[in-house]
Amino acid sequence: MTRPLRAHINLQALQHNFSRVQQAAPRSRVMAIIKANAYGHGMVRVAQSLPDADAFGVACIDEAISLREAGFDRRIVLLEGLFGAEDIALVNGFQLDVVIHHESQLALLEQGSLLRPLDVWVKLDTGMHRLGFATENIEAVTARLQKIPRIGAIRYMSHFPCADDLDSNSTARQRQTFLDALTAIPAEQTLANSAAIVGWPDTHLDWVRPGIMLYGGTPLIGRSAASLDLQAVMTLSTRLIAVNERRAGDAIGYGEDWVCPTDRLVGVAAIGYGDGYPRHAPGGTPVLVNGKPAKLAGRVSMDMICIDLVDQPQARVGDEVVLWGEALPVDEVAAAAGTISYELLCGVGSRVQFEYS
Ligand SMILES: *Cc1c(COP(=O)(O)O)cnc(C)c1O
Repeated sequence: MTRPLRAHINLQALQHNFSRVQQAAPRSRVMAIIKANAYGHGMVRVAQSLPDADAFGVACIDEAISLREAGFDRRIVLLEGLFGAEDIALVNGFQLDVVIHHESQLALLEQGSLLRPLDVWVKLDTGMHRLGFATENIEAVTARLQKIPRIGAIRYMSHFPCADDLDSNSTARQRQTFLDALTAIPAEQTLANSAAIVGWPDTHLDWVRPGIMLYGGTPLIGRSAASLDLQAVMTLSTRLIAVNERRAGDAIGYGEDWVCPTDRLVGVAAIGYGDGYPRHAPGGTPVLVNGKPAKLAGRVSMDMICIDLVDQPQARVGDEVVLWGEALPVDEVAAAAGTISYELLCGVGSRVQFEYS
């Protein structure tokens, strides 16, 4: 038998979540964000299951090329744009859109030569202070772009740092900064990530850019995915490979810092940080054994975790262990491990067997 570690990808849940985007932003086109292997779900399979996406957003040319090679002819946007002069021929050849966020990228385009039209998305910094041109430079950047032979449509975008926090006033302020900068420029515009799609309707504009909500993670602080009618797409599961009787006082795993308070069964499941399960998940992190709640005992190893089976005296080798998914929100596991669902999903490793249905 092979190692029993599986990621089941529920494509109906993915489509359900996509329809939630359309419901929330009915007048906007949808750029489905599938960077980082579709947040760990398998980029090509996810893209194939989103026939109504108007465009796909990826981080690098390799991701875009694998989509083209799989036969996609829809719009693909490189969210970080060009990395060097050699990328110009590739984006032209594979008909990719690029984000332009920096002077250096503008210079590459001015020095290179386009053989075919290239659509660009100019990224403006409205307050995140990560990528983007200052809004006061918008006319100058636009004028320089328009002088480049064969530049195609020019669209404008920005990104929010705090849209997940409905109490923050940054999002409304950034939206206003963006719209003020664009008053004299008639062009398509996009601001909204998942959090803004569900939390800030007046940011929807021409295009929305959902990522995490497609995969069923909550985009909002303090709100569960279920309360937003989002469904888990990935269920990560494995099996118990050992179940052992332990005595009160027995220490479990590396560092010996988790000690059995009373006699009990402790199970060992085949998954560890070498598979993307977070090493920082402390004892007490929730898992499901045979569908019932149980907790991590001791530190996460590279290939294994230990599970306190105090409430499951009937547990046996071969029993199913769910790490996250339909019955155990990835957001809860992320919170226990001091991280976010995005990191857990993206981190699912290549040793995991993927199944789609
Ligand atoms: C990753 C990304 C998104 C999607 O963000 P979510 O929070 O996952 O919805 C949207 N826009 C840009 C530019 C991104 O890089």
